Amino acid sequence: MAIKIYNTLTRRKEEFVPREQGRVAIYACGPTTYNYFHLGNARMLVVFDMVRRYLKYKGYAVTFVQNFTDVDDKIINRANEEGCDPLALARKYIDEYFKDAKALNILPADVHPKATEHIPEMIEIIKKLEEKGLAYNEDGDVYFAVEKFPGYGKLSGRSLEDMQAGARVEIDERKRNPMDFALWKKAKPGEPYWDSPWGKGRPGWHIECSAMSLKYLGPGFDIHGGGGDLVFPHHENEIAQSEGYLDGQQFARYWMHNAFITVNQEKMSKSLGNFFLVRDVVQKFPGEVIRFYLLGTHYRSPLDFDDEKLVMASRGLERLKNSVRLAQEALGKVLPEEEPQVEDELVQAARKARQEFEEAMDDDFNSAQAYAALFELAKELNTYLTKEVKQAYSLTEALNTLTELAAVLGFDLAEEKQGAQADSGKLNEVMELLLEVRQNARQKKDWATADLIRDRLKNIGIVIEDTPEGARWYIK
Ligand SMILES: [Zn+2]
Repeated sequence: MAIKIYNTLTRRKEEFVPREQGRVAIYACGPTTYNYFHLGNARMLVVFDMVRRYLKYKGYAVTFVQNFTDVDDKIINRANEEGCDPLALARKYIDEYFKDAKALNILPADVHPKATEHIPEMIEIIKKLEEKGLAYNEDGDVYFAVEKFPGYGKLSGRSLEDMQAGARVEIDERKRNPMDFALWKKAKPGEPYWDSPWGKGRPGWHIECSAMSLKYLGPGFDIHGGGGDLVFPHHENEIAQSEGYLDGQQFARYWMHNAFITVNQEKMSKSLGNFFLVRDVVQKFPGEVIRFYLLGTHYRSPLDFDDEKLVMASRGLERLKNSVRLAQEALGKVLPEEEPQVEDELVQAARKARQEFEEAMDDDFNSAQAYAALFELAKELNTYLTKEVKQAYSLTEALNTLTELAAVLGFDLAEEKQGAQADSGKLNEVMELLLEVRQNARQKKDWATADLIRDRLKNIGIVIEDTPEGARWYIK
């Protein structure tokens, strides 16, 4: 069945037809790296990770690009406060991004372009916009002239007049229209800058995403995603400058936006100060529970946050894991049948769950509804486990279906962790033994044996460090 996607551009659910058969190109606006990311940011990241995983499950070859905005007013301001280099600050938070993303089981993108590494591409677009009369230079600041782009407002569904009336736009005499936006910003003293045809400066935020998405995905790529707060002005401006540059050719075909996380009915945001960093929340709840909470509501519906919601998510995830655990145990006791495999109610339940899961996900990635299919199968599995006669075939079918579908949403229900813990327990014991043998060798001044142990371990990625408290080891 075809996937339907709610397209912000057309304001309706549309059947998804990729630009190229069998392939999907996605661009999601990544974080501005001046802090750890908060739960509101995490929702967007997890949602598009889920979209990407589901498209892969459906057999598409997916190219997923997510940028880092690593030069920006916010970064510069923060760096000034902390008295450090803005680009170094950005690099630090890029590294930190990957730690939190991993905790939430967000896969790394195929490409993570950084704005600072694509300045020539941005300059190229701005130059062309200037040549076409869509941009103008005011003493080193270059602006996009919104009045020259007839489609301006098509994404947010507002006319230029409405925007001007509705927005309290700062009066800036250099702008020809108050809605004009900066493509290139003249460098102020102490700011990072690059050389350009308009003098030393740095790019505006919006142009970054146009340059990087077009570079890696080309015009008319399939899905452009981001948080709902990016519709205007960020994505509206991306469309204007990109389609202006592309001579009216379509920039991106499906625009997807997730709703906010709210705290006491207010949007969670850095500016309101009511945000919770993922880095802090994972101290209380495992990353998989946070992810389970984030995908437990359809991505276009607001999601309220409090600890109680995470406790509920934790219980839900545990219910699924419990069924898997019980089924695994039962499977260990049931002998594989020699008789022909019977299509019993559990096999049918597994098939039904897959069908319902796909129907839910095909319908604009309704992960909340997809959860219902998983819980239903877990329930059927639990009932089956109370029966006297169990078929290994049916248990395997149900177990595989449940774990496979959960994995499509980024959850690992199988009890690998216990296995991994047991393994790491054994490894600890073996390492203790090896360190003891090495210590004995050293006492006997048998340096050859001591070095052999150290070097061979190093070759397999285990490093031994000699400290005043004795030798310790770690996996590199
Ligand atoms: Zn963007």
